[in-house]
Amino acid sequence: MGYVDLHLHTTASDGVMSPSEIVRYAKTKGLQAIAITDHDTIQGLEEGLIEGEKIGLEVIPGIEISAEHFSGSMHLLGFFIDHHNPLLSGKLEYLQKARAERNPKIVEKLNRLGIKITYEEVVEASGGGQIGRPHFAQVLMGKKYVRGFQEAFDRFLKKGAPAYVDKLRFTAEEALHFINEAKGIAVLAHPNTLHMEGYSELDKLVLRLIEKGLKGLEVYYPEHSPLEVAHYKTLAERYGLLITGGTDYHGIEKNGLDIGVGRGEIKIPYSIIEGLKAARDRFL
Ligand code: AMP
Ligand code: ZN
Ligand code: FE
Ligand code: FE
Repeated sequence: MGYVDLHLHTTASDGVMSPSEIVRYAKTKGLQAIAITDHDTIQGLEEGLIEGEKIGLEVIPGIEISAEHFSGSMHLLGFFIDHHNPLLSGKLEYLQKARAERNPKIVEKLNRLGIKITYEEVVEASGGGQIGRPHFAQVLMGKKYVRGFQEAFDRFLKKGAPAYVDKLRFTAEEALHFINEAKGIAVLAHPNTLHMEGYSELDKLVLRLIEKGLKGLEVYYPEHSPLEVAHYKTLAERYGLLITGGTDYHGIEKNGLDIGVGRGEIKIPYSIIEGLKAARDRFL
């Protein structure tokens, strides 16, 4: 059996490849299945599913929803979501409207800092999908205001930086509700970005999320240290959570990270998907 990647972004959010391109790319890399998990949007799923059918690669419809959290950032993945579910798509449309109001404010802040950047340039960088801060970073790099992607965030775009504008988020409880309503398997993404004080705090949070419909933990992730992987795996096993993994490949500058393999340390067997499917079937 082959390998899979369960965390990928396309041009529908802030990835560089279109859904069909990423499906074809996964195929050339020898992957057996992928999940498309764009931030707060399902707009790329139809195209990705069709391309998967066409070339014979299993594509799992997914989503990655940002949720409110007092520290770091909380992202919730949903696998096998029914992307035609009216509650989920309605809530995601609401987030799109909020982004449409936020993005010009970021342009304004940058302009006030003396940076000549227009909203049109950012739209162009986004390739027509949802606009996010990585697209601002791309324009800043293209116009040589910064040397790299990270510098764009550190100097301008990250939380606390002068051009930061907060975005609207649902609570974890809300996001879990929408994912479950759409028959998705909800998984806590990259737990290390929560920046929890200690493992016992994370433990308590996970227990609370399970009560609200959490079904799994993203254990395998390029930014997790071997120690974190071991810990998250134990945590998942302790509470009977599913274990998932993916590279969060965006196709943008991230020190040689690639689909399926991360920086060489990632290997996610197909059996992980079988676990998700068993959970989905119990759920139906
Ligand atoms: P947005 O959806 O517009 O809030 O942008 C979120 C995306 O920006 C994330 O998925 C990351 O790819 C990127 N990002 C957020 N914070 C940082 C940071 N401090 N450094 C680098 N990239 C970041
Ligand atoms: Zn992203
Ligand atoms: Fe994420
Ligand atoms: Fe992601």
